[in-house]
Amino acid sequence: AIKDAARAERVLQGESRQKDRADRATTEQVLDPRTRLILFKLIANGVFAKIDGCLSTGKEANVYFARRGPEAEASFDLAVKVYKTSILVFRDRERYVDGEHRFRRGYAKAKNPRKMVRLWAEKELRNYKRLVSAGVRAPRPVLLKANVLAMEFIGDDGWPAPRLKDTGLEGPALRAAYKQTMRAMRALYRRCRLVHGDLSEYNLLWYGGEIVVIDVSQAVDVDHPRAMDFLRGDCKNMTDFFGGVDDALTTRELFDFVMSP
Ligand code: ATP
Ligand code: MN
Repeated sequence: AIKDAARAERVLQGESRQKDRADRATTEQVLDPRTRLILFKLIANGVFAKIDGCLSTGKEANVYFARRGPEAEASFDLAVKVYKTSILVFRDRERYVDGEHRFRRGYAKAKNPRKMVRLWAEKELRNYKRLVSAGVRAPRPVLLKANVLAMEFIGDDGWPAPRLKDTGLEGPALRAAYKQTMRAMRALYRRCRLVHGDLSEYNLLWYGGEIVVIDVSQAVDVDHPRAMDFLRGDCKNMTDFFGGVDDALTTRELFDFVMSP
């Protein structure tokens, strides 16, 4: 376990695949001692066998690949999303959390960025649970410890499924992806009572001929005061992306379809 922890440390310190110096600095910034301790414990407890590479370094979070360990309950490998505790990020996010009845109490109490970030991670966990329970294809969440969310890895043997943006789908396959996206948006609205709020070709994966919805930390309840604005934005993004589909809906038509009973 000690050897694995040392290896994890090296990976976490920026051995991530295609990094420039600036990215490395951000990578290191998120991995404060508390976060590192959480990851080391998960390895020591056998939940993760090892953390084996960085899938993404974003403004708000880094995502790592972890092989499941002998003590893992899940039968699949994991994507581990580590939310950054920088205050700047959360300025942006207030508009999603404000007006969310589910988070009103916590939000008021979350005076420091660390608490805020935990709330945010919890929000993503809860949103993923709703999607999975409603049968919308999304990573199954596995565990949450502070700012660390482990979920089902979408991909094969450490190779992540491509984002829809990177698939180059055309013709019938593009049409199939479009139809699945339409259904997913409607199920999200009607069955999960959620609006994604950041839906785009960057936050949809394409795996085994299926659309997989990711990045739901900002998804809001349909009764959020700005839910309809967010939904319009999601519909516009999808209409723009799927412009090449024959007979695709307009933004307005897609919006009506999503809301239709
Ligand atoms: P960004 O700011 O870049 O959008 P983010 O902080 O919003 O990132 P996500 O969109 O949830 O985080 O994840 C970032 C990337 O990590 C995704 O685009 C995807 O490539 C990869 N990723 C996230 N979750 C998974 C998963 N469960 N399985 C495989 N890859 C994943
Ligand atoms: Mn994203």
